[in-house]
Amino acid sequence: MVTSKENVTARRKVSVLGATGSIGSSVRSVILQKRAEFEVESLVAGSNVDALVSIAHELNAKYAVIADETLYQVLKLKLEGTGIEAAAGLNAVIEAAIRPVDIVVSAITGIAGLHPTYAAVLAGQTIALANKEALVCAGTMLMGAAKKAGATILPLDSEHNALFQALNGNSTKLIEKMVLTASGGPFMNWDITQIQNATKEQALAHPNWNMGQKVTVDSASFMNKGLELIEAHYLFDVSPFKLDVLVHPQSIIHGLIFYGDGSVVAGMALPDMRVPVAHCLAWPQRLSIDLPRLNLASLGSISFLEPDYTRFPCLKLAQNALFAGGAMPTVLNGANEIAVEAFLKGVISFGNIAVLVENTLNAYQCLNSNNLTPVTLEDVDSINLISKELAQTGLSKVSSRAIH
Ligand code: MG
Repeated sequence: MVTSKENVTARRKVSVLGATGSIGSSVRSVILQKRAEFEVESLVAGSNVDALVSIAHELNAKYAVIADETLYQVLKLKLEGTGIEAAAGLNAVIEAAIRPVDIVVSAITGIAGLHPTYAAVLAGQTIALANKEALVCAGTMLMGAAKKAGATILPLDSEHNALFQALNGNSTKLIEKMVLTASGGPFMNWDITQIQNATKEQALAHPNWNMGQKVTVDSASFMNKGLELIEAHYLFDVSPFKLDVLVHPQSIIHGLIFYGDGSVVAGMALPDMRVPVAHCLAWPQRLSIDLPRLNLASLGSISFLEPDYTRFPCLKLAQNALFAGGAMPTVLNGANEIAVEAFLKGVISFGNIAVLVENTLNAYQCLNSNNLTPVTLEDVDSINLISKELAQTGLSKVSSRAIH
């Protein structure tokens, strides 16, 4: 029973995996506003030593970890005499994830975030999960382990955080529908040929959210929303039949729960990641932070429309993978990582992201008709590897030229 929802009173210990990324910077911003209420244990970054050192100083962290092992000496040298412990490599990342704290923010991008997230789950931590891939690729395994270990997973993705708040502890068995909203991204009003030939700069120009490159491209292709549907399925144990997407260009309502009694509860906020970050950092209490407030009167109106599966085929591919289950979500994710990387490098066109993902899903199905669900980390790694190899092989078959 929560007795006070006013403010967090005890100093909460926080570790941040992915401290120098986009989510990490929102966490940093919230903690800096509420310094007296938080204590930072571990910070993990991929390869940006300077940013890690700077944020470790700023937040007075105890343990700073760089995932890239070759950068250990550089990090150690830069932290000398500061009292901040330096470490590098996967084992150190895992150590950062399992050191006992009140909340672990899991915000490492991509499949690289799975291992430390799983370690935090096994250690029974409370995890604010921003990493999509962990749930998409290993949802059954992760949620099962969380139940066993008594770990709590709080959704940090804005849509899932809104849905978590709208659910307010109710079972998803009681709901009729769970709707995630999508902004529509930069190509919402473009025709299909324009979308297929979109440049990297155009795909990276998101109208509402300021995020990392991978997720921004995923937003433009709607793959992000597809991955989020899969995420929601595992996170909330909700049937794929009850999950839906609604395009909502203003990104004010992030998720809606339709209850059987006709009530609809919407999770609303300005599109600012500091909102879900503040919610997770204080949960089950509330923080009061300084950021722009939602003003509905000045907004005037908000609008909604159905998603367009023809112009954004990635959404349908993700939905199909969700319904197919088994290894398909993992394969989808691996193929998409290769496709987005190839697009960002100028190797394939935007339209060919969906083509490459679809070809990879088909190729995987031809080789593995049993479609087994991954139950160990090794299973996930192996499916991910096969998917990426198939996608790499498929790259040469999809043209880097524009589609006409
Ligand atoms: Mg999201």
